[in-house]
Amino acid sequence: MTTTFPEPRAAYIHVPFCAHRCGYCDFTLVAGKDHLIGEYLNALDRELQTLQTPREIDTLFLGGGTPTHLSTSELQRLLVLLSRWFILAPGYEFSVEANPAGFDDDKIKLLTHHGVNRVSLGAQAFDLQTLRLLERDHIAETIVDAATRVRRRIANFSLDLIFGVPHQTLAAWRETLRRSIELQPAHISTYGLTYEKGTAFWSRRHHGVVNPLTDDVERAMYAAAMDELPAAGFDQYELSNFARPGGCCRHNRVYWAGGPYFGFGPGAARYIGGRRETNHRSVTTWLHRVFTGRSPIGEAEQLAPEDRAREALVLGLRRAEGVSRRDFLKLTGYVLDDLATPAIRRHVATGLLEDTETGIRLTHKGKFFADSVIIDFL
Ligand code: SF4
Repeated sequence: MTTTFPEPRAAYIHVPFCAHRCGYCDFTLVAGKDHLIGEYLNALDRELQTLQTPREIDTLFLGGGTPTHLSTSELQRLLVLLSRWFILAPGYEFSVEANPAGFDDDKIKLLTHHGVNRVSLGAQAFDLQTLRLLERDHIAETIVDAATRVRRRIANFSLDLIFGVPHQTLAAWRETLRRSIELQPAHISTYGLTYEKGTAFWSRRHHGVVNPLTDDVERAMYAAAMDELPAAGFDQYELSNFARPGGCCRHNRVYWAGGPYFGFGPGAARYIGGRRETNHRSVTTWLHRVFTGRSPIGEAEQLAPEDRAREALVLGLRRAEGVSRRDFLKLTGYVLDDLATPAIRRHVATGLLEDTETGIRLTHKGKFFADSVIIDFL
């Protein structure tokens, strides 16, 4: 089967610096090593040169780590560097992840000046107990202050929230949702806490120091988000993501649609020409490899056409609209039913999946058991 691969029109840049590492976080980053920021920017400059020519893109996403942990002058250097390699197409989306603490007006102004038109604020929770447990360095007032100041310049802002945190009550979670809605973001992401191997939380759980919430409570929290956010005008357009009209994250939609994207920085992934590559996760290894002229890629995989199709199916099922038979054929060259009839029948029978005439999508009940449905399509 011959497939033509479009050029990426989305780019992700990973900024691996934070003030400290939160106990649940397994992202690629270094904490308390700000002296490496200059080297990181030099290395990123080199890695971007592999593009050879500036590229026009529709979405640019700066994630981390905490991109706004960089000082104003470092952030300025990063933004100037990116403007040399990426031409933002009309109607573009340029997102930056930010932490409420330390996100001052100078940084917000600088981002706006360089065309940033979407900010994702890592709020996580509003109650002090949950914020402390998550080891966040902000309090509710810091979130309110940051969101209020961001909104004056960048109306398209998002709040990231976490539920399922030990000791977090359903009432506290509902209060977090209420206070988030009150800040009038364009978008809210709600993630269930996971205990990733290698994190402090994983080891605390392993040693019985913290006890996860029960599945029932976690489901009740997810259900609360699925009730309260739509009631406030947010559409659940993806399993964990809710947006007001026009507020969807276009960059993440590229991932869920199985589209191609560039990636730069330690741990960054890219998907180009059906090949998935991930840079080394160790910041120092990535730096060393870039400076010595070696490839920063740690893992690479050329996906076979069927694997590509299955991956697109699994990502597509995360979206509210699910997977359209016609679009799936166009994207992958495969007939959806040829690949997935047994799994479709099984999950339609259990009420977790809906088979419309045009495609398949998770039902309301299916969203609570998405992982167990999705795995069947791989
Ligand atoms: S601020 Fe975010 S990226 Fe940084 S350590 Fe905490 S959770 Fe991880």
